[in-house]
Amino acid sequence: MKGFTTKIVHSDRLDVVEHGSLHKPIHATVAYGYDKAEDLAAVFQGTQAGFTYGRQVNPTIEALQTKISKMENGLQTVCFSTGMAAIGSMLFALLRAGDHFVSSSFLFGNTNSLFNQFAAHGIDVSFVDATDPQAVADAINERTRLVFVETIANPRTQVSALSEIGALCAERGLAYVVDNTMTSPYLFQPAEVDASLVVNSLTKYIGGHGNALGGAITEMGQYDWGAFPNIYDTYQSGGVEKWAITQIKKKGLRDFGAALAPEAAHHIAVGAETLALRMERQCANALAMAEFLAGHEKVGAVYYPGLPNHLEHERAKRLFRHPGALFSFELAPELDIWSFMNDLQVVIKSSNLGDNRTLAIPVAHTIYHEMGPQRRASMGIVDSLIRISVGIEETSDLLDDLGAALAKAG
Ligand SMILES: *Cc1c(COP(=O)(O)O)cnc(C)c1O
Repeated sequence: MKGFTTKIVHSDRLDVVEHGSLHKPIHATVAYGYDKAEDLAAVFQGTQAGFTYGRQVNPTIEALQTKISKMENGLQTVCFSTGMAAIGSMLFALLRAGDHFVSSSFLFGNTNSLFNQFAAHGIDVSFVDATDPQAVADAINERTRLVFVETIANPRTQVSALSEIGALCAERGLAYVVDNTMTSPYLFQPAEVDASLVVNSLTKYIGGHGNALGGAITEMGQYDWGAFPNIYDTYQSGGVEKWAITQIKKKGLRDFGAALAPEAAHHIAVGAETLALRMERQCANALAMAEFLAGHEKVGAVYYPGLPNHLEHERAKRLFRHPGALFSFELAPELDIWSFMNDLQVVIKSSNLGDNRTLAIPVAHTIYHEMGPQRRASMGIVDSLIRISVGIEETSDLLDDLGAALAKAG
């Protein structure tokens, strides 16, 4: 089998590409015309290959979906306008009022907010410590349909018990959804822990350049959807492994309508070509910065799975090619977080992650502000916590920048 980057760079060419174009062209169209009405009908009925309407399908997006399936070693991928749209549409399509699911409590903030909103619609969720498989097992009941986890959580970098939860889901016959955004398919292959469906925010490492939003759900082909009670009869045709992704495509993408724009799909596909190269550099920079900060007298705790004192260091080593490109740290409490951050010259004060540029954010005051001090305290988010999403700049420039700002901090 070809290597990771070879597969990505050549994936468009393996199909017929218009005029031999080396990139899949941007198809800026909503609809597709047919010479014969019978052909239009056959495409709608699925008996003939072809395109119907832009909310469901577009050749540019289809090429990106193929690329992501290859990256994840999955069966089929459906793309959405954002990562949040992917997660929301998937659960909207698969769950019904009265159902229950178990989620890691260490979640991307907006995912946490979304899951609470599902609870308001009669779909119950239990948030548990997913670093502990027993906590997940204890939360399962007779109404539980699936388990949702992230690989490395942000901002505190907890690493879920990915293999053990995969084994538990297999034993209990539950679907297992893994959000692979923080690791990307280059650092981690959820297929290896028996994931049923994989989520990727394409906005982050896969796109990589912070210039396009997108999300994806990939069916891994490892779960028996015949055992899942919520698949409509209409979608129970063909191989059982494709029932859920078909329902997600129809009830999630088509009916909810959060379609990826073809221009964004093109940006993401170009960005994805260098995923492995960028990740190698970003993870090396992250380790160097985390080690530097861990040894600095003006810094408290540093949270990075690549450091030996991280609680899940051994697990991260076992599961991931590298321990990620994001870490967080606590500035010594007597120091002024604002003047320290304002003294950074290379590192940009910004909210995104997975960009080529290194970005820093004061967590409690921004992305965790809405939660209030009590919930922040329960999650171990102190006021001096700074999250760094590490980019591809030269290592020495990043270390010098941190060092200079810390030297001034008082
Ligand atoms: C950013 C992110 C999302 C949401 O993705 P968007 O493209 O911003 O909607 C979901 N999960 C994780 C882990 C993320 O980091």
